[in-house]
Amino acid sequence: MKAIITGITGQDGAYLAQLLLEKGYIVYGTYRRTSSVNFWRTEELGISGHPNLHLVEYDLTDLGASISLISKVEPDEIYNLAAQSFVGVSFDQPSTTAQITGIGCLNILEAIRLVNPKIRFYQASTSEMFGKVQSIPQIEETPFYPRSPYGVAKLYAHWMTVNYRESYGMFAASGILFNHESPLRGREFVTRKITDSVAKIKLGIMDCLELGNLDAKRDWGYAKDYVEGMWRMLQVDEADTYVLATNRTETVRDFVRMAFANAGIDIRFHGGDVNETATDAETGKVVLRINPKFHRPAEVDLLIGNPAKAKLKLGWEPTTTLERLCQMMVDADIRRNKSGFSF
Ligand code: NDP
Ligand code: GDP
Repeated sequence: MKAIITGITGQDGAYLAQLLLEKGYIVYGTYRRTSSVNFWRTEELGISGHPNLHLVEYDLTDLGASISLISKVEPDEIYNLAAQSFVGVSFDQPSTTAQITGIGCLNILEAIRLVNPKIRFYQASTSEMFGKVQSIPQIEETPFYPRSPYGVAKLYAHWMTVNYRESYGMFAASGILFNHESPLRGREFVTRKITDSVAKIKLGIMDCLELGNLDAKRDWGYAKDYVEGMWRMLQVDEADTYVLATNRTETVRDFVRMAFANAGIDIRFHGGDVNETATDAETGKVVLRINPKFHRPAEVDLLIGNPAKAKLKLGWEPTTTLERLCQMMVDADIRRNKSGFSF
C-alpha cells in the first residue's frame, strides 16, 4: 500500500507516518519549502531515515502541484492533515487560513477526481466546527456553528469532502476529531504551552506562565490513539463521517493544576477573571497570571464528543486517560528542557 500524508512535519503527520510504516506502507510525506524545514517530530519518533518514508516538497494551495503529486506517486490512500491549524492565528490571517485550510482540501479532492477517483481520501475535520455548541455531547449529526476563521475554513473543507463523496462516489471520509495532544503538540496550543512552561518553572528557567481563558472546556485525547482512528476510517467498505473523542471534558484550569501536580508542584488559585493568579503553595511565588492578549475575539466555551459511532463501525476507542497524557507531556518537556531542546 502507498499513502500520501500532507503535513508530515506536524504532530499527527508524524504519528500517522509511524503507524503506516509499522503496517508496511510506503509513505510519501509532504512538507512545505521554507528557509529551514524542521523534521524534529519524525526524528523524535525515529522514522526520519526509514527506507519506506519519502519526503516530498508540496504546497496545498497549488492545484497543479496537487495533480502532479498524485499523478507521480499513484497512492492508494491520501490523508489530508496539512492546514493552518491554529485558531488564534486564524483571526489574524483569515484569508491565508481559508486558502490553506479550506481551498487546500478542495485542491486535493479535485486532483483525485481528475487523476484517479478510486484513491481513498481522509479529511482532518475538527470539533471547532461545532463552535458555539448546539447540543451536548456533540455527535456526527450535531449542527455546526463555527466561531473562528479556522472553524469556518474547516467546515468548508468538510462539506466539500461530503459533496465529492455524494457527487462523484469518491471514497472521501471526514474525521471530526476533538482536541488531541501529545509530547509532539505544537507549543502554541494550550496543553503543550502549559506542560513546557511547567517544566521550565520546575527547572527554574521561567518564573510565571501567562494564559487567556481558563474556563474553556475541552475534550482532550492522545494523538497516537487518534491517528489509528484515521487509518480505520479508510479500511471500511464505505466512506463516512466520524467523531473521535473521549467523552470527557475538563477546563484549561484543571489541566494547569494537573500539569503542575505532575511536576511535583502544588498550586493555589486566587481571584477571578483577568485578575486570577495561581501561586506555588510551598513558596508563595506567582506561577500563573492572566494576559488578556491570549483571549480570542470569539471563544468556543465547551467541547465534549461522543465517539459511539466510531466504536460501533470502526471498533475505535481512546485508550489513554487525560492524567496519563498530561504526565507524558510534562515528563517529555522536563527531559527536553534539561537537555536544552527548544521545539
Ligand atoms: P499541525 O499544526 O501540527 O500540522 C499542520 C501541518 O500542515 C504542518 O505539517 C504544516 O507544515 C502543514 N501545512 C501548513 N500549511 C501548509 C501548506 N500551505 N501546504 C502544505 N502543508 C502545510 O497540526 P496537527 O498535526 O495537530 O493536526 C493535523 C490536522 O488535523 C490539521 O489539519 C488540524 O487542523 C486537524 N485537527 C487537529 C486537531 C488537534 O487537536 N491536533 C483537532 C482536529 C483537527 P509546516 O510545518 O510547514 O507549518
Ligand atoms: P483550540 O481548541 O483548537 O483552540 O486549541 P488551543 O489549545 O489553542 O486552545 C484551547 C483553549 O484554551 C481555547 O479555549 C483557548 O482560548 C484556551 N486558552 C487559554 N489560554 C490560552 C493560551 O495562552 N494559548 C492557547 N493556545 N489557548 C489558550
